[in-house]
Amino acid sequence: MRIPPEHPRYASLMQRERLVRGFEAGMTVLQGLIAHGRGEAFDYLLGEKTTPLAAAAIRAGAAMLMLARKPVISVNGNTAVLCPEELARLGRALNAPLEVNLFYRSEERARRIAEHLRSAGAERVLWRADAEIEGLESERRKVSSSGIYASDVVLVAVEDGDRTGALKRLGKKVVAIDLNPLSRTAQEADVTIVDEVTRALPLLTAQVHSMQRLSAEELEEIARFDNAENLRGVLEFMAERLLELSRTCPGKG
Ligand code: ATP
Repeated sequence: MRIPPEHPRYASLMQRERLVRGFEAGMTVLQGLIAHGRGEAFDYLLGEKTTPLAAAAIRAGAAMLMLARKPVISVNGNTAVLCPEELARLGRALNAPLEVNLFYRSEERARRIAEHLRSAGAERVLWRADAEIEGLESERRKVSSSGIYASDVVLVAVEDGDRTGALKRLGKKVVAIDLNPLSRTAQEADVTIVDEVTRALPLLTAQVHSMQRLSAEELEEIARFDNAENLRGVLEFMAERLLELSRTCPGKG
C-alpha cells in the first residue's frame, strides 16, 4: 500500500506498514503488533513528541550505557523492523553488541532478525542462545553467554516486565524505552525513557556522541537519576495535557 507523505498520520502509518512487512518476513509476531498498538495509544497522550522529561532520561541513559563495562542492546522483532539502522548506529557509538532476544523465540526467527540487523549495518549481532537467565520462565530467558548474560547494563525497548525484573535481580542495570509509564518495565528499570523507540534512539546516539569527551566522574553525575520522579512527571504531563485538551476540545458544549 502506498501512503502519501502529506497524510497527517504518515509516520504512524509507515510504522504499521513496516511491522506488517516484518510479520510477512517472519520477524515480527502478531502479539508484537498488538503491543505496538498499546504504545501508539500512549504516544497519543504524549502528543507524539519527545518531551523534556524523555530528553532528561535519554541523557541519563546514555551516560549509564557509556559507563558500562559490557553494555548490550537487546533487540526484539518490533524494534528490529522499526529501526534497524538506528540500532546499528547506537551499537557502533557504544561499541556494544546487539543481541536478539525474543518472547516467541524460534532459531529461524532469531537468525532472520540477526541477518536483517547485519544488512542494516550492525557490526556485532548475537543471536545464538547458550545461557539462561535464572528466574524467568519465558523464552526470553535464553541469552548469549558473551552478551546479555555477561553484561552489566542492558538497553531494552518495547519489552515485557518479566525480563526487566529478572535482569535487575541479577544485578544488572536496565535502561528502557517504553511509551507506557505504568508498565512493569517502566517501573522497574533504572532509567526509563518514555518515548517512541524510533524517536528516542537517534537522540540517544547523538547524546552518546556529544558526551564522548566527558570524564567518568562527569558521566556518573549525569547517570544519577531519579526514575520514579521522572515517571511521576510523565504522568503529570499526560494528565495536564488531557485536561488542556478537554478545555479546548471542539466537542465541548
Ligand atoms: P509490562 O509487562 O512491562 O507491564 P506490557 O505488558 O505492556 O508491559 P508488552 O505488551 O510486551 O508489555 O508491551 C511492550 C511495551 O512497549 C508496552 O508498554 C508498550 O506501551 C510499549 N511500546 C509499544 N510500541 C512502542 C514503541 N514503538 N516505542 C516505545 N514503546 C513501545
